[in-house]
Formats: sequence, structure tokens, C-alpha cells
Amino acid sequence: MTDHDEDKEQVDVDLYDDGSVPEFGFRQAPGAAAVFAAVRGTGPIPTAGLATRRQLRAMGLSPGGHPPVTRITWGKQGRRWAWLYAIELAVPKRIPTLAQELALDKAMAARQTCPLCKRRYYTVLPLKTLGSCLECHDGTPADPSSYSAPLATHQLAA
Ligand SMILES: [Zn+2]
Repeated sequence: MTDHDEDKEQVDVDLYDDGSVPEFGFRQAPGAAAVFAAVRGTGPIPTAGLATRRQLRAMGLSPGGHPPVTRITWGKQGRRWAWLYAIELAVPKRIPTLAQELALDKAMAARQTCPLCKRRYYTVLPLKTLGSCLECHDGTPADPSSYSAPLATHQLAA
């Protein structure tokens, strides 16, 4: 459904309605063969050429805020058409793994960091029962290899 919503948005903008930009027929755009191969998974993702928003997405890319370069038309009298975007301007559509990693790290940091000495341990602390690490609780020396320096928790976010 989001495909349609985005397409509607683009139609409303209609930047190139004056016809000054050449339009391409289906599969005739520069690099179209490479794009189709990449979308099918039978070829590498091209670094240049033109692709529709849907094709970009299939290749793990998005227009990156850049307006379309031109459009392709197909069907009867070119009634079907789609915007074409420059692949070289496209950006990775999102970075879910890093975002997830950051969210996970944040959640884990809260459970692994002693509120008293600010050291972050590699294991989850008994914060609910003791409220701190063992060393702060009863003086049991903590193994230096079991925690990282207090400021190390920010390394991932930096
Ligand atoms: Zn502590």
C-alpha cells in the first residue's frame, strides 16, 4: 500500500510535466538490463543508470531525497508510467541492523551498568535485588575483565 501512497505523492509534484525531459519506454532506460538483473538477483547492483522507486527498494536503495530524473512509460499510449531515479544518487533505504543494535545496546546497558561505580559489566547485574554491582554492594572485588570502563558504554553510539 505504501507504494501507491508514494506514487500518488510523486504524481502531485509532477516536476517534469513540461515534457523537457526525455521519457523512456519500458526496459529502455539507461542501464535497464542491469537493473532488472539486480532486482531478479541475477546480477550485481549497478552503480549508475536509472531505476524506479520499486526497483531501488528491491535493490536495498531509496531515492535519498533526490527528485526523479525522468520517467518510463508503457502500456497503451504510455498511460502507465513510473518515475525513474538516478541510482548513483540513491542511498541505502535503511539500516535496521544498526538501529536494532543501538536499541538493544541501550536496553542492555541499563541492566549491565552499576549506578554507583558507573562501570558497565558484561553480565546483567542484580540491580533489582542489590541495586548495584557486587563490589559496591559488599566489597567483593570485581574481576577487571568482567566490566568495561565507565565511558565505554557510549562507544557504540559515537
Ligand atoms: Zn558498582
